[in-house]
Amino acid sequence: MSCPTHDLAVVEIGGVRTLVVSPSIPEDAPSAVREGIARRRIVNAGGTCPCGARLRLPGRADRRRARRHGEVLRSAPARHADDCPAADDVLAAAMRGA
Ligand SMILES: [Zn+2]
Repeated sequence: MSCPTHDLAVVEIGGVRTLVVSPSIPEDAPSAVREGIARRRIVNAGGTCPCGARLRLPGRADRRRARRHGEVLRSAPARHADDCPAADDVLAAAMRGA
């Protein structure tokens, strides 16, 4: 499997224009790895994973306060279902070939 590169996209997340950096999907990766990365890319861009995971953004008041202070959102967590191909443990095992 080759070392992944990254793609950049500008999308609107939570009403804010956002630059999203996501890993590319290696063409030579096993299908489980490809699926896990594809699902993470969906969530990173503000979408919903088939397992239901979405970005957990700060509340509107926190976003407004951050904007007033010129701060930017650098990351937001998402919690995939335990058996989702994008879940940390599942994707890590797929990447190890387990
Ligand atoms: Zn998921």
